[in-house]
Amino acid sequence: MKLIVGHLYGDCMNTYGDNGNILTLKKRAEWRGISMVVKNVSLGDKIKPGEFDLFFFGGGQDESQISVARDLESSGKGKILKIEVERGVPVLSICGGYQLLGDYYQPHQGPKLPGAGIFPAFTKASFDRMIGNLVISTQFGDLVGFENHSGKTYLKKGALPLGTVSVGFGNNGEDKLEGCIYKNAIGCYMHGSLLPKNTHLADWLLKTALDIRYKKDHSLDPLDDELETKAHQTAIDLFS
Ligand code: GLN
Repeated sequence: MKLIVGHLYGDCMNTYGDNGNILTLKKRAEWRGISMVVKNVSLGDKIKPGEFDLFFFGGGQDESQISVARDLESSGKGKILKIEVERGVPVLSICGGYQLLGDYYQPHQGPKLPGAGIFPAFTKASFDRMIGNLVISTQFGDLVGFENHSGKTYLKKGALPLGTVSVGFGNNGEDKLEGCIYKNAIGCYMHGSLLPKNTHLADWLLKTALDIRYKKDHSLDPLDDELETKAHQTAIDLFS
């Protein structure tokens, strides 16, 4: 079996080590004999519906977000991403990437940056730097990561949070919510990178991508996750 992953703006939204998520997905697929092709999809690139089985969108600086927001709109990628999410294609987006898949991101200066409108949420720049370890409880079990953002994201009525904050700030440091999930698209503030210490989420993304691509239910062979599980639990015990 094969999966094709679209790494959104991997060359300009890659400030916080989120590329470790791509490495995790690739290794966990290959350890199971599933080949994975990762393509950088960046400024000026066009994409077509059905071209990718999974998308990843990492975090980046505010200034990168300006050109990326403009490109999402001008290249039509924002619209295609929305179509793909509606058909169930999984997406993992982190921080700046997450913000640009919502309705908009309002930086300190200048106009609102329009998002792809996948997550019913909006983000406003703040003067609070929300930085530190983040532990949340979710439908996937506990997730642990590291956040570093000043943007505050607010979920609109009916939007589903990825989880509730046990340790850290989360979306905005006010409502104890973190991230957003819409169909199989996930947005969150969890750098780290997220997936190496949360392999249950990595495997959910892989399984979902296979199910959608091959139009049938898959169960992934278990891997020896002793080290990953230890890292996950040690982090949670340390921060809680
Ligand atoms: N605009 C983002 C912020 O809220 C950028 C930071 C990030 O992607 N980690 O700070």
